[in-house]
Amino acid sequence: YDEIYVKEKIFSIEVCNSLQSAIENNKLSVLYQPKIRIPDKKIVSAEILLRFDDLILGSVPPATFIPIAERSGQISKIGAWVLDKAVLFLKQNTPCSNEKFSLSVNVSALQLNDRNFLDIAKSYAESLGDAIDFIELEITESSFLNDIDESVLILNELKSFGYRISLDDFGTGYSSFFHLSRIPLDIIKIDRSLIFNIDNSPSLRSLVRNIIRMAKDLNIEVVAEGIETENQLRILEDLGCQYIQGYIFSKPVSDKELIDMIKLQPFKQRMHDSNK
Ligand code: C2E
Ligand code: MG
Ligand code: MG
Repeated sequence: YDEIYVKEKIFSIEVCNSLQSAIENNKLSVLYQPKIRIPDKKIVSAEILLRFDDLILGSVPPATFIPIAERSGQISKIGAWVLDKAVLFLKQNTPCSNEKFSLSVNVSALQLNDRNFLDIAKSYAESLGDAIDFIELEITESSFLNDIDESVLILNELKSFGYRISLDDFGTGYSSFFHLSRIPLDIIKIDRSLIFNIDNSPSLRSLVRNIIRMAKDLNIEVVAEGIETENQLRILEDLGCQYIQGYIFSKPVSDKELIDMIKLQPFKQRMHDSNK
C-alpha cells in the first residue's frame, strides 16, 4: 500500500469529523477581505472567506477543507451558512456606508447543481428585497465544464433573483472565450497567478491588459486579486483595472475591523506591504 495515500486518507477523515462538529456547534467563522476601487481607493465590497480553527488540527485552510466538504456533502450546509452570514451582515450594516456596499460569497460547483441551494438563495433574495444585488456569487469555471447549457440556466435563475455573478480565479484553468460569451457575468476576478510576476513580464502585462480591455467591451467589471506591492498596484492602475483585492490594502479581517475600515476610508495609507 501507499503510505502517503493512507496518511492523506486518515487526515481527510479527521478533517471531515471535526468539520462536522464545527458545523453542529457553530464553530466555523468568516473573515472579510475588502475590495477597493482603484481611482478613489474606496472599499466598495468585501469577499467573505471561511475560516476553520480546530483545537487539535489547528487552523485548516479553506483550500484544504473545502474539497473535503465537497466530497462529503457538508458543503451544502456550510455554503448555506456563509450565505446567511452575508445576508445578516448586509441587513445589519448597510447604513454604515452611504454608498452601495456589496459582499461576495464563494459558491462551490456542487452548490450550483443543488436545487436546495437555489431555493435557499431565492428565499434570501426575497428577504433582502432590492438590496439583493449587493451580493455577488463567485463561481469558478470548473463549475460549468460539464454541461454549459444547464449552467447558463442556473446562473440566469440566480440573476433573476437579483444576485450578481462573478467569475473567480480567471486565467487559471480553462478561461475559455466560449464560456465568456455564454455565461451571464457581471464581474471577472483575475487570478493572483497572473499578477504576482507582472512586474517582470511584458507578456503577462499584455495578457492582463487585454483581459481588462475585453471585459470592458463586454461590460464586465474587473477585479485583480492578490495585489501585494505598490508596483503591482501601479501597473494594474496603468492597465485600466477598476478594482483590486490584496494584502497591499488589507488581509481578510473581522466584521468589526471591516466596519471600522469602511468608516475610515478612503485609504490614505497602505495597511500591508509584503515588500517591507
Ligand atoms: P478565492 O476565492 O480566490 O479567495 C482569495 C484567496 O486569496 C483567499 O485565500 C485570500 O485570503 C487570498 N488572498 C487575498 N489577497 C491576497 C494577497 O495579496 N496575497 C496572497 N498570497 N493571497 C491573497 P483563502 O481565504 O485561504 O481562501 C482560499 C480559497 O478557498 C478561496 O479562493 C476559495 O476558493 C475557497 N473558499 C474560501 N471561503 C469559501 C467559502 O465560503 N465557500 C467556498 N465554496 N469556497 C471558499
Ligand atoms: Mg473568491
Ligand atoms: Mg480567486
